[in-house]
Amino acid sequence: MSHTAELIAVGTELLLGSIANTDAQMISQGLSELGINVYYHTVVGDNPERVRQAVDIARNRADILITTGGLGPTCDDLTKVAIAEAFGKKLVFHEPSAQRIRDRFAAMERPVTENNYQQAMLPEGCTVLDNDWGTAPGVAFEADGTHVIMLPGPPRECEMMFRHRAMPYLQALSDGVIASRTVKTFGIGESAAEALLRDLMNALHNPTLAPYAKPTGTELRITAHAPTREEALALIAPVEQQVKEILGDRVIGVDVNSLEEVCLALLKEKGLTLGTAESCTGGLIAKLITDLPGSSAVLKGGVVSYTDSVKAGVLGVPQDLLDQYGAVSPQVAEAMARGAKQVLGCDIAVSATGIAGPDSDDRGNPVGLVYLGLAYEDQCVVKEFHAGKVARERVRRMSAHTALDLVRRYLTGLL
Ligand code: ATP
Ligand code: MG
Repeated sequence: MSHTAELIAVGTELLLGSIANTDAQMISQGLSELGINVYYHTVVGDNPERVRQAVDIARNRADILITTGGLGPTCDDLTKVAIAEAFGKKLVFHEPSAQRIRDRFAAMERPVTENNYQQAMLPEGCTVLDNDWGTAPGVAFEADGTHVIMLPGPPRECEMMFRHRAMPYLQALSDGVIASRTVKTFGIGESAAEALLRDLMNALHNPTLAPYAKPTGTELRITAHAPTREEALALIAPVEQQVKEILGDRVIGVDVNSLEEVCLALLKEKGLTLGTAESCTGGLIAKLITDLPGSSAVLKGGVVSYTDSVKAGVLGVPQDLLDQYGAVSPQVAEAMARGAKQVLGCDIAVSATGIAGPDSDDRGNPVGLVYLGLAYEDQCVVKEFHAGKVARERVRRMSAHTALDLVRRYLTGLL
């Protein structure tokens, strides 16, 4: 039998927007690993009546309820009272939990205030989930066919209690796992990807295939449900292959974090070094690479050649090219890349020169026009990229990523 869980986060600060519901994200990920469906997340304030209403709704559409927050010693910590009432259970004093609270305070050399014992009042007949990471114990019980689990709100406590206490409890109830793999692309939007994959998506049930729009491309997540992780992955493999074939060279990898990570891995694998010559991106390409640990093995350095004098003086771009074609030109992009390769002594150099906006230049080049160069061996390719008339920050970011995609394409033989 498959199970459905609903998460009820209790806390007015969540509704006020003071904090994000990260506990729910963490728990949902874990439930997915266990093959337990989650159809609803509920967030409710510290109000007994509304908590009660949320529980009454949830128990009609899920057989596992997991609450977070409101287990502490203060008066707004009302989750246990509301839940116990909803399921017709009394709260009874649990001496072993009271002792754990005394021990914990003794270890911190602090006196136990009376309200702390409220945390040892637990629903009669429940399974106590010992909290080794804080004071409030968690609770699990089954009533009228519904499994109820209550976890503390502070994220670290909640995560430890979920992983080490709730998951083993739930494991006994679950009948499989959900596994997923994510195919990451660059330079294709969600609707374009969906149009290419629509027939395949419609034909699939297990695994399923779903597109997710990301700033630089679309992610395609393939998700399978099976008794074991191995079986789920075996269901995913042929679909992954089909997706890769349909999307072709736009696929940058599977279960990878970013384009820069892919580039770094490829450069390391091939033992090649990179350098940059950046005008409109102002060092962003180098920044993206150096955000990654281990980048010193591949990035030799970068020149932010913002003015013509630095393009000429540092990178050796011939002055007559700058005069004749202007800084934003394929000729200058090529000379910048070749110059950086020479000056920095790297195997591959990328360059970027363009109009980040908001104004176009005096030669009439439009905002968003960027030339990207890639120098390798004694060759150089130049790509004309149009980011479009978008915000300056976006032109720069898209240009930096497109430059990295040029590096990826070169390193995977796609140029
Ligand atoms: P405590 O013993 O600290 O009072 P508690 O179980 O009573 O814990 P809350 O009082 O509801 O939990 O929340 C404690 C803190 O945990 C909040 O201030 C908030 O920072 C964090 N928190 C609560 N719920 C969530 C949630 N769903 N996601 C992320 N953080 C949360
Ligand atoms: Mg609290």
